Amino acid sequence: MDNDTQGKMPGPRVFLVDDQLIVAEGIRRMLAGESDIDFYYCQNPTDAINAAAKYQPTVILQDLVMPDVDGMTLLRFLNKSPATSKVPVIVLSSKEDPKIKSDAFENNAADYLVKPPEKIELIARIRAHSRSYLAHQALDEAHKELEEKNAILERISSEDGLTGIFNRRSFDQFLQKEWDRAIREKTNISLIMIDIDHFKGYNDHYGHQGGDDCLCQVASALAEAVGRPGDMVARYGGEEFVVVLPNTDIDGAALIAEKLRRKVEGLALPHNYSTTANYVTISLGVAGIVPAVDSDPDTLIKQADAALYESKESGRNRYCLSK
Ligand code: GH3
Ligand code: MG
Ligand code: MG
Repeated sequence: MDNDTQGKMPGPRVFLVDDQLIVAEGIRRMLAGESDIDFYYCQNPTDAINAAAKYQPTVILQDLVMPDVDGMTLLRFLNKSPATSKVPVIVLSSKEDPKIKSDAFENNAADYLVKPPEKIELIARIRAHSRSYLAHQALDEAHKELEEKNAILERISSEDGLTGIFNRRSFDQFLQKEWDRAIREKTNISLIMIDIDHFKGYNDHYGHQGGDDCLCQVASALAEAVGRPGDMVARYGGEEFVVVLPNTDIDGAALIAEKLRRKVEGLALPHNYSTTANYVTISLGVAGIVPAVDSDPDTLIKQADAALYESKESGRNRYCLSK
């Protein structure tokens, strides 16, 4: 850390838990000359957790031998309680005993000083532990912010910018994942390719903005009509959409296709330049398969595409099944 960053760091907030007022008074005096150090004191160890939650210390000083509460037990409590679990605890003990020291560190003490501490050493240790606590906090905070930003980015990069449903990239990833699963589990997977009928005429006459609005309404209608949480509706490109139906055979997919067709028809979006109907309609191609080992999802896309072409050829506003 450079000096500049250190300079901006707030001073230590010291919280002492000790049953002896005289010890507290001694420490208070030692810290009195340090204008950037705040000092808080709690005489009763049973109040320590609540008081610490209130004062939000950056370092805790704790006596080891107190009435009512065993010092090691308090250490464990401080370590478990959300308000203090990350705050370094310096044990202040009257005992210079390696076994007790070892127990204290075992119970997550950050440091151990024998009473009465030397003023200059106490202040140095307080500053060092407080600094490392604050640096960790800043790092945790930055990490949290980064995760939030990543989650937003992840969402944006999986969405189609116009319609808000999944984009082509998400579709490709999802289809491959579900394809692999269908191979492993020997289950059906179905695909519906969807294309808006006479959309060029719609765009030419209602304008590009009108066309975009229409795409949004069709996308929402499709997304609403596909019910299962495991299914996916995505924008394949332009005025084409695609639906992935894991665990669904072609007959099940045909039912969904008809539901989608009706749903879009039900929007009754006026389209005076369609030779199929006087409202916006869609054509659909349905394919379903239990994929063979080492096969590729492109097979299914091609089949659904061919079925869509047949729907267009045979009059539009309908679905056809892949043969
Ligand atoms: P068909 O019934 O055979 O599907 O005829 P079509 O007119 O729908 O087919 P075609 O593929 O010729 O036209 C698609 C049109 O969709 C071309 C383009 O003007 C329009 N389009 C593609 N992407 C967008 C978009 O993002 N926004 C808008 N507004 N229009 C788009
Ligand atoms: Mg098209
Ligand atoms: Mg079209």
